[in-house]
Amino acid sequence: MDVKFIADSMLGKLARWLRLMGFDTLYYPSIPDEELLKIARQEERIILTKDTELTRRNKDNNLIHITSSDPYEQIKTVIKTFNLNPWENLFTRCVHCNKPVEKVDDAERIKEKVPFYAYSNHFPFYRCCGCGRIYWEGSHHEKIKMRIKSFLEGKDEV
Ligand SMILES: [Zn+2]
Repeated sequence: MDVKFIADSMLGKLARWLRLMGFDTLYYPSIPDEELLKIARQEERIILTKDTELTRRNKDNNLIHITSSDPYEQIKTVIKTFNLNPWENLFTRCVHCNKPVEKVDDAERIKEKVPFYAYSNHFPFYRCCGCGRIYWEGSHHEKIKMRIKSFLEGKDEV
């Protein structure tokens, strides 16, 4: 599934979660409506917005008008609307710059960039091919998975 999104500046948390789940999601903390509409059109991205004015102005893009202020409700809406699989590409994209991450084969080379506990536990490491940020599979991955499970099942946080 290669659905791509562009989120408006009010939807930072939603954008972050979508990236965590591996979905290509552009997000700018501040962007004029015109510019956002232009990028959506050029890159065939689906607009996610809380803005009624933008929703009204949009003519030729696919757009989802997000009404809930709760980030988890917002994610649920997007997942359900596009029937997305949140597990398939989990942790394959940089949450900061939206670029894909790649596995680091030679952990020795990134030793200086990661905490000692992560390095000494031989966690698998991933590097963002955009900003170079290093990710690793630690306990936070389990927490994120639990969180996704809980909001998808509509339960309170576990
Ligand atoms: Zn990055």
